[in-house]
Parts: sequence; C-alpha cells; structure tokens
Amino acid sequence: MAKIYQADFVVIGGGAAGMPAALEAVEQGIPSVILMDKRPFPGGNARMAGGYVFAADAYTHEKAGVTLHGEDVYKELIRFHHYDGVNPRQLRAFIDSSADNLAWLRTKGIEYEFNPVMGNSIVGAGAPGSYARVLDQMKKELVEKGGVVLTNTPATELLLDESGAIRGVKGVDKDGDEVLIETKAVFLSPGGFMGNDALMALYFSDQYDPADYVTDALRFTGDGVSMAEQVGAKLAPKATLCKESGFSFAHQNAPHRISMYANAVWVNRDGVRFCDESTAHEHTNANLLVAQPGMCGYSMMDETMMQDLIQHPSPQVSNEFLQPGDPKVRGQLEKMAQKLPDQCLIAQSLEEIAAWIGCDADTFRSTIVDYNSYCANGKDEEFLKPGDRMMPLTTEPYYVCKFFPLMVETIGPVVVNHHFQVIRAADNRPIPGLYAGGAVTAGWTGHDYEMWGGNLGYGLASGRLAADHVAAQYKRDAK
Ligand SMILES: Cc1cc2nc3c(=O)[nH]c(=O)nc-3n(C[C@H](O)[C@H](O)[C@H](O)COP(=O)(O)OP(=O)(O)OC[C@H]3O[C@@H](n4cnc5c(N)ncnc54)[C@H](O)[C@@H]3O)c2cc1C
Repeated sequence: MAKIYQADFVVIGGGAAGMPAALEAVEQGIPSVILMDKRPFPGGNARMAGGYVFAADAYTHEKAGVTLHGEDVYKELIRFHHYDGVNPRQLRAFIDSSADNLAWLRTKGIEYEFNPVMGNSIVGAGAPGSYARVLDQMKKELVEKGGVVLTNTPATELLLDESGAIRGVKGVDKDGDEVLIETKAVFLSPGGFMGNDALMALYFSDQYDPADYVTDALRFTGDGVSMAEQVGAKLAPKATLCKESGFSFAHQNAPHRISMYANAVWVNRDGVRFCDESTAHEHTNANLLVAQPGMCGYSMMDETMMQDLIQHPSPQVSNEFLQPGDPKVRGQLEKMAQKLPDQCLIAQSLEEIAAWIGCDADTFRSTIVDYNSYCANGKDEEFLKPGDRMMPLTTEPYYVCKFFPLMVETIGPVVVNHHFQVIRAADNRPIPGLYAGGAVTAGWTGHDYEMWGGNLGYGLASGRLAADHVAAQYKRDAK
C-alpha cells in the first residue's frame, strides 16, 4: 500500500537549488511544502561546496569598494558563450536576482565577503564543505516554518493528469514503501549526473575517461534527467561539464591547490610544457588539462620558488591553505611525498623527476633548459607567460605535484524558461506545474563554465524564482 500525502508544492532534492526553493515557498505563504531527498542528509553536491556564490551588484562589492554590474556580467557572458546553449532571459533572471539572493542569505545569518580571486565567499570559510552550514540553516528554518523534509525518500516518477499537468510524484521511503504525493506543483532539483556512466558517455564522450577521472560527485546519478524525459520534457542536445584546474592529492579527498602556484613550471606526462602556468586558477586550463595524456599535469617548484611561495603566497594557491610567511606548505608536501608517493615527489635532480613521471629524460631536460632560457631572456617564447611570473627551475630540492582537473558538476540538459518552468518537447510550452532548477537544467551556461560561484548562485536563483512563480499562482488560485 502506498503512503499517500497531499502538498501544495513538492521539491525533489534538497541541495543548492531545492533547499532555497522549499524555504522560499514557505516564506511566501504556501501552506504545505514537502521536500523529498534521496539521502539521509539533504544537500548533495552543495554539501561539498566551498560556498562561493556568484552575485553582481551585491552588498559585498559595496563593502569592498569594488564594482561588478550585472549588466556587464550579462554582456560578457553572452560574448563568451555566443548564445550557444544560453537562454538570455534565463541568464538575466539569474544575474538580476543574484544581489537579492546573497542579501537573503544574510537575513539567515550567513555573511559573505568579497574575495578578489573567487568572488563572494562565506566569511571565515572557503574550504570544500563550507556551504553545508548554509544548507543546514535553510533546512532548520524550513522545518521551523512548517515545511516537511522526507529524507531517505528518492522520487522515482513524475505523474501527469490527462491534460498533461502535474498531479503528483511517486517515490520510495526509507522502509521501502511506495510514497505518492498528490500535488499540482513540483520543483525538480536532484542535481547532476557525474555518477551516471551512460549519461556521461552520451554527453561527454570527448572529455570522459572513467579510468582517469577525479571527482567527489559520483553519488549523483542524474535521476532528474530520466524523470523529466518520461513526462516529455525537452532535453538540450548538449550538457556542460564544469571542472576546475589544478587539484593535487584529489584522490585523498584533500584537494590542495599548491600546484596552482603561478611561478611553478608545468609539464604533461610526455615531459613537455602545455600552457602559461600563471593562468592556473581558471576553468580555461582545466579544458587543456583534460586534453593531456592521462588527464593530468605535473607542477614543479625549486627551492627558490618554495621560499617565494612561503613569503608571498599567490592568491591562486588560496589563502585557506597558506598564510604569508607560513612555512607549513613544505611540511605538507613532505608528508604527501611519503603518504602518496605516486602524487608528490621531492627530488634532488631533473633525472629523478623524469624517471618519476615516466617521460623521456632528454625531452624533459630540454623542456627545462628552454624554460630557464626564457626566464633569463624575460620572455616565454612558447606561451607568453608574464615575465613577473617566471623563475628558473635550478635550485634543489625540487617539489613536484601531480595534478588533475576536478570534475565539479554536470549542468543540463533539462530545458526551462526564465520562470524555471520545464518545457515540453512536443510543443515548446511549459508543462503545467513542473519547474526545475540547479544542475539538472540547461540554459544558463553554454559550452563551458565561466563564473566563480555560478552553480550555487544559480541554485539560489532558480530555486527562489521558481518558488515565487508557484506562490503567485497559488495566491491567484486561492482567490
Ligand atoms: C568539491 C566541490 C566544491 C564546489 N564548490 C562550489 C562553490 O564554491 N561554488 C559553486 O557555485 N559551486 C560549487 N560546487 C558545485 C555545486 O556544489 C553544485 O553545482 C550544486 O550543488 C548543484 O546544485 P543542485 O541543487 O542542482 O544539486 P545538489 O546540490 O547536488 O543537490 C541535489 C539533491 O538532490 C538529492 N537527490 C538526488 N536524486 C534524488 C531523487 N531521485 N529524489 C530525491 N532527491 C534526490 C540529493 O541527495 C541532493 O540532496 C562545488 C562542487 C564540488 C564537488
């Protein structure tokens, strides 16, 4: 016997998008809101997030005396994406609501500040996992304000009535019993599909090799894609793989950005350089890293660079790990070289490094000889690395880290409009009562990911804006 519930609004998945959707809905006066989550703790990928949230024209900018206008960001993103995969109204809805979303978090006691590299970051936080406290606070308020959270309760199917409008959601509860929630409004936000090999191969055959893959997001199986498809939702032909560059030690769930020290020298598994290393903390070179053999690079510092890094930590290395004058990075690397000898090496010679990487020693030596000559002449003849970032690799010991792109999230392919209503494939019209947001939806970013904090920022925007639309409809119906 199915357990039957009634609700005015059902949210499927309580992560970056679903949790604010449910909370906004109760705050807007929707009486009966149920959030279903597959796992014992809602939050999904967002529980692992560093907590950087994109917002333009935000209070954080005003406080820091910097300017970031939403209209400029919009124009820049359109220039970057060439409209490829981007719905301009949806993107504007996201950007235009972003300042209010950050201010809304502030009303919940979550204070943000401006960080010159990553944008808006939670005061006193920044390391992976920082956003969990935001989710916990939202969940607490949701329950206090009358929302119901059903954990260990995956949704399995969306139900439509004969007119094609939403009439309910089916799921399974923690006892294995079928759950049926009757409702006229659903927000679908069960996250991305990094853990779904079939979808990964379908959308990212050029970027996906399970053998070389580094991600913490394998739990996310993309349930939303099949649920949406079953009710005739339109799916975009492309999805986006969101990735970051330069994570060392990622297999130990202890990502360290040390490889992103801008003065370091990088080579690939063949012992050759492949880019300007000072672009380190950018999504752009994550694409290049994916294209290298074995999807990895090797970042090298000599002792002089180590001294420089300790004295002048670059923002790329990220100040959550290293403060100026703090020598702990050396100890961390020594520990890693012992603990993970396949990922970190402290070497006394270039020959030792080449043997460790497994590349041709002559090729590697000539890479370093060339690089050192560029440093002496003040010009990187290959990749035009800025002169003030070039230091020769000459003084032992050498510190070498293997590094990887971190696969952060998949984005798409469910198509929504700027109210976050899911679009039906058959006629390009909204499926009445069905909304979606967060990683399962396409349309706010194109072929690549360009904004720091975009995923969490978009989660807030899509969740809150969808809930506002549902609330407006609810109020109209109640009259
Ligand atoms: C290490 C790391 C750091 C990151 N840092 C940042 C950052 O600083 N800034 C940023 O913008 N982005 C960051 N991200 C990305 C960001 O966390 C995600 O893109 C974002 O959480 C996606 O939001 P979502 O709501 O779509 O999905 P999620 O946050 O993953 O939430 C999905 C929820 O749905 C639930 N669920 C799944 N299937 C079902 C089902 N069938 N029924 C019911 N519930 C279901 C899951 O249990 C989960 O609670 C980071 C990601 C990683 C891995």
